[in-house]
Amino acid sequence: MIWNKSKECMSRDEMAALQGKRLHKLVELVYHNVPFYREKMQALDLAPEDINSIEDIVKLPFTTKQDLRDNYPVGLQAANQSEIVRVHASSGTTGNPTIVGYTRRDLEIWKECSARAFTSYGVTRDDIFSVGYGYGLFTGGLGAHYGVEYVGATVIPTSTGNTDKHLRLLRDLKITGIACTPSYALYLAEAMERNGMTRNDIALRVGAFGAEPWTENMRAEIEERLGLQAYNLYGLSEIIGPGVSYECECKHGSHISEDHFYPEIIDPETLQPQPCGTTGELVFTTLTKTGMPLLRYRTKDLTSLICEPCACGRTNVRMTRIIGRSDDMLIIRGINVFPSQVESVILEMPEFEPAYMLVVDRINSLDTLQVQVEVRKDYFSDELGAMLQLRKRLADKLKSVLSISADVRLMEPNSIPRSEGKSVRVIDKRQLK
Ligand code: ADP
Ligand code: ZN
Repeated sequence: MIWNKSKECMSRDEMAALQGKRLHKLVELVYHNVPFYREKMQALDLAPEDINSIEDIVKLPFTTKQDLRDNYPVGLQAANQSEIVRVHASSGTTGNPTIVGYTRRDLEIWKECSARAFTSYGVTRDDIFSVGYGYGLFTGGLGAHYGVEYVGATVIPTSTGNTDKHLRLLRDLKITGIACTPSYALYLAEAMERNGMTRNDIALRVGAFGAEPWTENMRAEIEERLGLQAYNLYGLSEIIGPGVSYECECKHGSHISEDHFYPEIIDPETLQPQPCGTTGELVFTTLTKTGMPLLRYRTKDLTSLICEPCACGRTNVRMTRIIGRSDDMLIIRGINVFPSQVESVILEMPEFEPAYMLVVDRINSLDTLQVQVEVRKDYFSDELGAMLQLRKRLADKLKSVLSISADVRLMEPNSIPRSEGKSVRVIDKRQLK
């Protein structure tokens, strides 16, 4: 199902024309209302008249998270405070949080994009949908909430934090859809099994998962354990929140609402735009937002674009799974390591729970990587030989994927702390040294 055929199935020429027109209006808006952008453009000897087509976007300056921090709290806002009807904030692990103000029009755009996503997962007014993202400053809860409601399904604003109640609601209300982080979906599955429930006790058929990177292996695991179809939902608060892109029934890349958010892929070192199919840093320009519109915002998310048409009928460009962030990439003994690589190795082996922790340290000037991972109950054994062999098999696989050796620690089931929001999977002790 397609929520807005006229915007999701446009011809590429029409889309480019629309994007060009919107980009020109956006540049006029920020030039006149945001001193930060006016100064940046003047420094590049650019005026709004110089931006007339979407191809002209490459002339414009980039915006970074640091720019948002430097202009904390609302220096990049283009609208007057009286026009701002909602504020969200991105958690930000270091420094100032990022404050994002939304105008009424921004909220309409967000709701529209979120509804496109849920419709594409097959959600209809007949569904009963639990939103298990956090409600509050984080955009996940309210972003999904308004989209599901707009589609006409029944929304249950469960939020995070009360797993037992969540399970009870799933069972008693015969909830058919759920939105949460993929790690929380697995946590729910575990809790369900602990409480003696099976997937046959619940009625879930569709799930919208995002807010953190996940893998195809995790998808298979969530689908199997919860008995549903699992789809990706991507977004970030700086751009709008969940709904920036979403998978369709093909589960092959997430369609970007590019009539609102223009995507580019750049090389994070040279900042040069990259062609479709090349992995690099994802950059978005908010073509229609009026609260805090951004020019060429560097997300730090690493992905690639798929520009071929999709079998679902949508013409909007797709992005592949996020393989990491150009800033959370670990450099261990000079080698780039993404936590998602470790995860995919662990999930390929049936002996392990999808619960792991990477501990990076520096001992005698040498970087060390320890991978702690939980062994499933059925595979956990007192027999030392069996455990040593399992440990070696994982270490060998990790070595071949990462090109560095890891010290593997096998852990008992349920010994690694679970989080109900985004999981913390890396402890980098080197930063403290
Ligand atoms: P916060 O900064 O408070 O954690 P944000 O909404 O700003 O919240 O986080 C956005 C980031 O979360 C994205 O830039 C991306 O790194 C990650 N993210 C969101 N959705 C997905 C997804 N579906 N797959 C992978 N990563 C995601
Ligand atoms: Zn599609």
